[in-house]
Amino acid sequence: MSDNKTKLAAGTSGSVVVEHCQVCQGTDLDPVFFAGYLPPVNEMPAIGSQPHEQPAYPAQVLRCRRCHLAQLGLVVDPAILFPPTYPYTSGTTKILRDNFAELYQEVSKLYPMGKQDLVVDIGSNDGTLLSNFQPHHRDHGIEPTNAGNLAVERGISTLTSFFNRAAVETTVKAHGRAKVVTATNVFAHMEDIGEIMRCVLDLLDEDGIFISESHYWLALLETLQYDTIYHEHLRYYSLTSLKYLLEAHGLEVVRAKRIPTHGGSIRVYAARKGKLPVHESVSAILATEDRELTDKKLADFRHDVVRSKLELYALLADIHARGQKVYGVGAPSRASTLINYVGLDDGILDCVLEIKGSYKIGKYIPGTLIPVLEESRLFEDQPAYALLLSWHIADELIPKLTARGFKGDYIVPLPRPRIVKGKGG
Ligand SMILES: [Zn+2]
Repeated sequence: MSDNKTKLAAGTSGSVVVEHCQVCQGTDLDPVFFAGYLPPVNEMPAIGSQPHEQPAYPAQVLRCRRCHLAQLGLVVDPAILFPPTYPYTSGTTKILRDNFAELYQEVSKLYPMGKQDLVVDIGSNDGTLLSNFQPHHRDHGIEPTNAGNLAVERGISTLTSFFNRAAVETTVKAHGRAKVVTATNVFAHMEDIGEIMRCVLDLLDEDGIFISESHYWLALLETLQYDTIYHEHLRYYSLTSLKYLLEAHGLEVVRAKRIPTHGGSIRVYAARKGKLPVHESVSAILATEDRELTDKKLADFRHDVVRSKLELYALLADIHARGQKVYGVGAPSRASTLINYVGLDDGILDCVLEIKGSYKIGKYIPGTLIPVLEESRLFEDQPAYALLLSWHIADELIPKLTARGFKGDYIVPLPRPRIVKGKGG
């Protein structure tokens, strides 16, 4: 297994077509869903600029029959998806900050560490996760983008690099091997997962714990989150597929838990085989997946996604016929998939609003001429409807926006499009 590199066939440019399962190398891959040809989510031209040639890549999800991994059928060149100026910072999302604080609490309770023990975060971004460990343990981040500079400013040791063999060698040389290695919401983004796992093993102490958090495939299916499908997310994990991956590299899943980040994720603890007792949560979640991840579930998902698209279109068509305005609220990466898949344009959605300070303001939503404007416009213009593009946190957003003075109604696009009455309604 260890010599089995992911087999990728050459495609156009630096992108590659997936012909084998990236976890088990199986070739029995079923198409689950095709979201169409999507532009890279960070391709956002300035408002007013003339539309020019832009790339778009097919976003098809395939499911492996053997290990239940769901993966994109095309791996887009990472140099295109993650330029050094990649602007995402995890510190800006409250639910993520809370999650990392909770992760720290859980780790220190379940697997107490000493002051000299090292924690390494893969894809450490602006250091938000490590800032929880920093006062208590030694810590080090590995981050390919400029977001790492923000971590360094907070005093968190950070290596600016993709996570690869050279980065691991540099880290081990400078800091030794890690007691805890974390990889949150990056495990799905990296191209050669076998090589990543070999690097994790080289980095991890003999008694170390590897903690991954990944967007959870079952949650995606349950709540129809097709909008989380974009090219940065190469793989969508179940515990079944993660177990397959970890075991192939001599690691054992010792604990697992569903967590709320990104609309539903799974946190998995693994250690070298036999080092730690296996918690009952592992067999419980595996049994649920056995029951739930059926062919029928996938067929229902496909059907329901199409229905949600048609229903959202019908709802917006009614509003358009009445001459009323709709503003989008929030421009996370998932908004780009929803807008492009449903086929919204600036005649349907007047604009999308982002909070003041967002680098997206003054640009177009990828693949469209829908402008991203400052959030204050919602209260100044009072459109009839706000379309919540961060719909997975609608319960948190609606009371906030109403309290701040928005008098219109809300459209929650998924899992099934619905209107939630605001103050005026
Ligand atoms: Zn597989």
